[in-house]
Amino acid sequence: MKALQYRTIGSAPEVVEIETPEPGPGQVRLKVTAAGVCHSDDFIMSLPEEHYVYALPQTLGHEGAGTVDKLGDGVAHLELGTSVAVYGPWGCGRCYECSKGSENYCTNAHEFGIRPPGLGSPGSMAEYMIVDSARHLVPLGDLDPVKNVSLTDAGLTPYHAIKGSLDKLHAGSTCVVIGVGGLGHVAVQLLRAMTPATVVALDISEEKLNLATDVGAQYTFPSEPGAVATVRDLTRGEGVNVVFDFVANQATMDLGHAMMRPQGDQVLVGVGAGVLPVGLTTGAMESAIRSPYWGSRPELIEVLDLARTSGINVHTEVYSLDNAPEAYAKLHRNEIMGRAVVVP
Ligand code: NAD
Ligand code: ZN
Ligand code: ZN
Repeated sequence: MKALQYRTIGSAPEVVEIETPEPGPGQVRLKVTAAGVCHSDDFIMSLPEEHYVYALPQTLGHEGAGTVDKLGDGVAHLELGTSVAVYGPWGCGRCYECSKGSENYCTNAHEFGIRPPGLGSPGSMAEYMIVDSARHLVPLGDLDPVKNVSLTDAGLTPYHAIKGSLDKLHAGSTCVVIGVGGLGHVAVQLLRAMTPATVVALDISEEKLNLATDVGAQYTFPSEPGAVATVRDLTRGEGVNVVFDFVANQATMDLGHAMMRPQGDQVLVGVGAGVLPVGLTTGAMESAIRSPYWGSRPELIEVLDLARTSGINVHTEVYSLDNAPEAYAKLHRNEIMGRAVVVP
């Protein structure tokens, strides 16, 4: 089968021919219907050898959807041909976190060598993929896999981030979304669907700000130091209740920090790795900083349900597997609007 693999540190991913995998006991093979292109892949491929943690070659793709194609021994209650989305942050299934569905915070995954597809395990950018357990599969039903595959990360991650701050997103509140890319443009829609908060979007690209308006942001501003005063003015000088930072480099974390109101949340989702001062005298009092990772299994079910009932619409650019390297090149140049999705 064909697969897109990251094979050499510092080089572009390559389309290669590899053996079609067979499902082992308890595993499920999917015929992939769609695979999303995430900025985290670009981040990982930008790491120098001393910081790169996965084995090579790495079949990319941690947003996946497919049809059930073959069952490993012992897998029951799953029909061949069912259209499913893949829950990506695989855990052990047994620890306390996994037991409540938060496999994204499994306390055993590292020790047991359990890795998400595309981030350690072979991913979805291939004609077929192996899913470790049937519990990671959520039926898509009538949802189009290509339009909705990215809800498994670009939807689930902001959904989980928003749920953790829901009590602060009450009527009259204001929140800021920094970075209206794959995750951010879904975040804007989720915020409008889940909360009465006013949504302000910041980005360095005018096109992305236009997308933010199209998907429901009430205000958009260029992401630059002057945005602090503009956003403070919008809130009668009080500051914002929650900042969702989908970049989280030093520039955006400084921006967010300067906009917070007391008891607000600064939610760092991007992997930009800036640093923040913390303490009573260094910013808005009693504000909290959270850095959520992906989301839980029940939350993926919730996001897909929300897509059905509230029309969450991922803005997708579709690529063939042969053209997938171009999708990554465009992502790297910040030229993708919404999410690039690969259809093998
Ligand atoms: P993306 O490339 O699709 O979007 C990034 C957006 O940020 C673009 O619109 C870009 O114009 C904008 N941007 C860049 N610099 C900016 C700045 N200084 N100010 C404002 N906007 C700026 O990326 P994505 O796939 O949506 O991922 C976003 C981030 O989230 C990445 O860092 C990714 O690695 C991370 N991520 C984290 C998790 C998690 O679980 N925490 C999950 C998925 C992705
Ligand atoms: Zn991702
Ligand atoms: Zn676990």
